[in-house]
Amino acid sequence: MTDQAALQSVLDRAAAGGRITKEEALDLYRHAPLHALGQAADAARRLRYAGTEHIATYIIERNINYTNVCVTACKFCAFYAAPKDTKKGWSRDLDDILRRCAETVELGGTQIMFQGGHHPDYGVEYYEHHFSAIKKAFPQLVIHSLGASEVDHMARISGVSAEEAIRRIHAAGLDSFAGAGAELLPERPRKAIAPLKESGERWLEIMEIAHKLGVESTSTMLMGTGETNAERIEHIAMIRDTQDRTGGFRAFIPYTYQPENNHLKGRTQATVFEYLRMIAIARLFLDNIAHIQGSWLTVGKEAGQLSLHYGADDLGSIMLEENVVSSAGARHRSNRQEIIDLIRKADRVPAQRATTYEHLLVHDDPANDPVDDRVVSHISSTAIEGGTAHPELKLISTN
Ligand code: SF4
Repeated sequence: MTDQAALQSVLDRAAAGGRITKEEALDLYRHAPLHALGQAADAARRLRYAGTEHIATYIIERNINYTNVCVTACKFCAFYAAPKDTKKGWSRDLDDILRRCAETVELGGTQIMFQGGHHPDYGVEYYEHHFSAIKKAFPQLVIHSLGASEVDHMARISGVSAEEAIRRIHAAGLDSFAGAGAELLPERPRKAIAPLKESGERWLEIMEIAHKLGVESTSTMLMGTGETNAERIEHIAMIRDTQDRTGGFRAFIPYTYQPENNHLKGRTQATVFEYLRMIAIARLFLDNIAHIQGSWLTVGKEAGQLSLHYGADDLGSIMLEENVVSSAGARHRSNRQEIIDLIRKADRVPAQRATTYEHLLVHDDPANDPVDDRVVSHISSTAIEGGTAHPELKLISTN
């Protein structure tokens, strides 16, 4: 039987900012009472953000899916079309992409997440061309996009190293990488759900190269595709080890597998309790990553709200457009006022943030809340990408 006093002692150490081992994290994840986990994680969050611990943040962004054509065929993905499937496959042209950027700016969005399949023809040149066009037209938009998987793919298509690919797309306008494609980093669960994707070690190696070139990123984890608790903890341990060397991961974002329209059969979705336990463990174990993001898009608004009491300091984005996890069944939608209200009801002061987490607008007086009922989450009618997904929403124009 697990010694509750020993568990509490580990929780106390982590709550005070001390480092815990992988074995201790697994023990906590399996056995610590949920309430005690939440208390410790919240204490760790308050300690890290002493002075601004009353604030929880969100960002306004647009997820732009540029193609759903993909050669990687991840089993959990409801978004992709095989290159030969000309009925289902599509790509957006640059004018369409620029129009979506213009709408994002008009609606107060500060960031775009360029996200799509591993198209067999899209090498480094494609991304250079598109990022430079976006930056030229909208220098105020932050391009927080792609991830190690896309880099691995585009470098192979263009016959260059990952380092050269990163240098070139960064020079063309990419500001930072999203944590897409991490899925599950340990070998067994990764091969089970994404057998054609690069290995977890390679994903981390490319992120390390990026961080050392000054391109920071977030990190993610896909929960609920059949992985064990030990594999979940191994995933975050692999991220922590890399972060010890680079310091380049700004945030960790766990989100839950959505079961519709894909090739994984018989998987049981992660429960809200499992999700909240992971948020809390992430805050306690990832002592070298500043931000833990609650993902309300896949787990629901109430669970997202609760995550703010389990160690999360950020609720991610009000997405002007999201199609990836939505293709797999995520049905939660929201708007800016609702996110502001959710945060307030969780007893925090909402603040709109930048990609780099600076507070752009602190909503400390409800009388001054922004009024814009066009800013709502939305799924594009064109259907969209499936799995390198992130928790996102979309702001759409109603005209
Ligand atoms: S998750 Fe991404 S890489 Fe995998 S099949 Fe879907 S679009 Fe392709």
